[in-house]
Amino acid sequence: MPPALQVLEDFPSVQLPFEWLVQLVPPLKTRAFSISSSPSAHPNQVHLTVSVVSWMTPFKRKRYGLCSTWLAGLDPHKRVPIPAWFRRDSPPPPPPSLPLILIGPGTGCAPFRAFVEERAVQSVSWPIAPVIFFFGCRNEDSDFLYRDFWLSHTDGKGVLSEEKGGGFFVAFSRDQPHEVYVQNKMQEQSERVWNLLSAGAAVYIAGSSTKMPADVHSCLEEIVSREGGLPRESAARWLRMLERDGRYVIETWS
Ligand SMILES: Cc1cc2nc3c(=O)[nH]c(=O)nc-3n(C[C@H](O)[C@H](O)[C@H](O)COP(=O)(O)OP(=O)(O)OC[C@H]3O[C@@H](n4cnc5c(N)ncnc54)[C@H](O)[C@@H]3O)c2cc1C
Repeated sequence: MPPALQVLEDFPSVQLPFEWLVQLVPPLKTRAFSISSSPSAHPNQVHLTVSVVSWMTPFKRKRYGLCSTWLAGLDPHKRVPIPAWFRRDSPPPPPPSLPLILIGPGTGCAPFRAFVEERAVQSVSWPIAPVIFFFGCRNEDSDFLYRDFWLSHTDGKGVLSEEKGGGFFVAFSRDQPHEVYVQNKMQEQSERVWNLLSAGAAVYIAGSSTKMPADVHSCLEEIVSREGGLPRESAARWLRMLERDGRYVIETWS
């Protein structure tokens, strides 16, 4: 439903008494954001990765999301108190011994920046299990979020490095004539994905809730079926078991 202000602007003939408007407009809703920093790497800080939402109304007016636009307009040099609530039922961060398959195109990379930072801190004191991360964006030059961060952890003994059994794979959907998505990159790394799954890896998916989670699920089903030599229905059951065990975690939003 379009916001009341948008309706009033689009239909100026509607003259609403202020008291009615106050009764009509629902209270402002809280917005959820994934925390994109690790408390071990940045004590007493919470980093967010926010995309500014915008869309066209049926009257071809550009509209911007309330909270994301407000956040983007803040002056980083000024202190602004922001009320925040932390969800206590969020799944705990994965232990360092758990291999991870992370899939987070766009701002879906937010929680995985926190995971990689946390593992980097843990790697100083403990052996860490392999982490592979599939990221996706439109163009390498315009929206490759945290590019230097991922690349630095892919080098040498970094959390996503070959040496640690990890990997970082990016799908630039618009950098070539045909569109390439995270699922295509996962297919290219099919054997690797299966080896990690067989070694007990957990799968985490974050980002847009439109088509991506279903496409990624079907891609994983295909990988399990092909690499594990299982019929498609058994692969689907295998993934359902993973979900029941808490090793298939999805955090998506529209
Ligand atoms: C668990 C969870 C984690 C999240 N993590 C993140 C995160 O890490 N980063 C992040 O950026 N966001 C994240 N979100 C999304 C975030 O909570 C907000 O929904 C988002 O920032 C938009 O809020 P807003 O106030 O700017 O937009 P709003 O003012 O709420 O506007 C959004 C409204 O605009 C409408 N709208 C939006 N786009 C269109 C369109 N194209 N056409 C027509 N109408 C449209 C929608 O109907 C919606 O009601 C997360 C959401 C959840 C549930």
